Amino acid sequence: MKVIGNHIGGRTAAGSATRSQDVFDPATGAVQAKVLLSNEADVRAAVACARAAFPAWAEVPPVRRARLMNRFLALLNQHKDAVARAITLEHGKVLSDARGEVERGIEVVEFACGIPQLLKGDYTEQASTGIDNWTLRQPLGVVAGITPFNFPLMVPAWMYPVAIAAGNTFVLKPSPIDPSPSLMVAELMREAGFPDGVFNVVQGDKEAVDALLHHPDVQAVSFVGSTAIANAIYETGARHGKRVQALGGAKNHMVVMPDADLEKAADALVGAAYGSAGERCMAISVAVLVGAAAERIMPLLAMRVRALRIGSGLDPASEMGPIVSAPARERIRGYVDAGVAEGAALVVDGRRCTVKGTERGFFLGGSLFDQVTPAMRIYREEIFGPVLCCVRVPGFEEALQLVNAHQYANGVACFTQDGHVAREFGRRVQAGMVGINVPIPVPMAWHGFGGWKKSLFGDMHAYGEEGVRFYTRQKSIMQRWPASTAAGSDFSMPVAQ
Ligand code: NAD
Repeated sequence: MKVIGNHIGGRTAAGSATRSQDVFDPATGAVQAKVLLSNEADVRAAVACARAAFPAWAEVPPVRRARLMNRFLALLNQHKDAVARAITLEHGKVLSDARGEVERGIEVVEFACGIPQLLKGDYTEQASTGIDNWTLRQPLGVVAGITPFNFPLMVPAWMYPVAIAAGNTFVLKPSPIDPSPSLMVAELMREAGFPDGVFNVVQGDKEAVDALLHHPDVQAVSFVGSTAIANAIYETGARHGKRVQALGGAKNHMVVMPDADLEKAADALVGAAYGSAGERCMAISVAVLVGAAAERIMPLLAMRVRALRIGSGLDPASEMGPIVSAPARERIRGYVDAGVAEGAALVVDGRRCTVKGTERGFFLGGSLFDQVTPAMRIYREEIFGPVLCCVRVPGFEEALQLVNAHQYANGVACFTQDGHVAREFGRRVQAGMVGINVPIPVPMAWHGFGGWKKSLFGDMHAYGEEGVRFYTRQKSIMQRWPASTAAGSDFSMPVAQ
């Protein structure tokens, strides 16, 4: 059985872990490897390597760090098919979707290649007579990333390219459910010429995470995962003096106005709700159907959900792959049961689904609920599976109120042909990322990603210029030279002269 370990100081390392976890192929249900679950000593070894690498790495001029990032970019492009395949094998998502994930990760690497421009400071000449004042940004030291199973390449890539280009060294703790893509990245970074210890991977679970959160040499933690864990990471990290950004769960709504092109809205909804089996933090899980849109769009949705082609992610005919694990499938089924028990109308029941030839895979069909109300659990909680809940509301104001009352506020979308409605929605909606006729508005690499409310703990979004600010701290320098220094002490607060 293949054993998946760590990558510390430029080498693969078995470490001293005594625990391991099965890594499944979700399409067949078979165990394909074991991943080691690192203990505190393994984490300490990784942090020590990263700490030792930091001073020299921080001294490397940003333009040379950018050149290495460029080499890594070329290698990632060269190997993107292999990485996408590794994602599909452990996560289950269809290969075209895994390729898309890799492309969106590559965009952040491209962004990080511009780090010399991003690290430029501000300068005020003659802040006072003979005095100049400028600000610059310097790296923090060792920073850590803790990432979820659903984007094993893209979510880590929201973090390490920016952190490393800015001069930090990095310890990544990926999800043990799909641990291989991170090791492929580590290997490509080594090949690109990054010094040993700049990028390290420790596999593991809560034990490794706790060791990172308690380690005094870890300066900052970026987390992406479910809300309860994000909240705990934020609190524990802050208690230990770390800078923390913790992105949590979601319940993304898509408002469909009666004037929208309903065929296009139905296509968008089905792609956004059932793509990647709904296991995306930006998946649409609630459709808010306004007025007459409801009666007209429901049949279009039902037809599309019944026709979903479900199968192995490696089969080019599949539109939706398996669920990531058997327990996740049970959790999702439980939510569908709860929706039925609470009185929602189950229009399409995806609870039973077998795929011929691979009957032991973790497959689930798409489920579609109508007549969902805000009091129901299926509305309030994140299901994180192929389940779309439709809520009917009479008008735009009620739609906006509904969206704004939810505890989650990651992404949101509005489909309409009315410019005024679109403008009002964009201005008044309480969420971090908004799409107008765009169902999954994941911001481009230079804009930054993040939700509001229970979808993000901390004040800075991932990647983009917010990412650069998160991984650096500002220093202000004020300077005067003897020729412009007046004689004598001045005991009052200095002011511009
Ligand atoms: P998860 O919270 O179970 O795990 C995330 C990470 O935390 C993993 O590395 C995991 O090993 C670790 N972890 C798990 N339990 C822990 C514990 N008790 N203490 C410390 N660490 C722990 O999330 P997941 O199931 O891997 O991913 C799905 C979740 O991630 C969904 O809620 C989804 O919405 C969210 N997500 C959010 C975003 C975003 O940008 N907001 C992006 C992707 C995923």
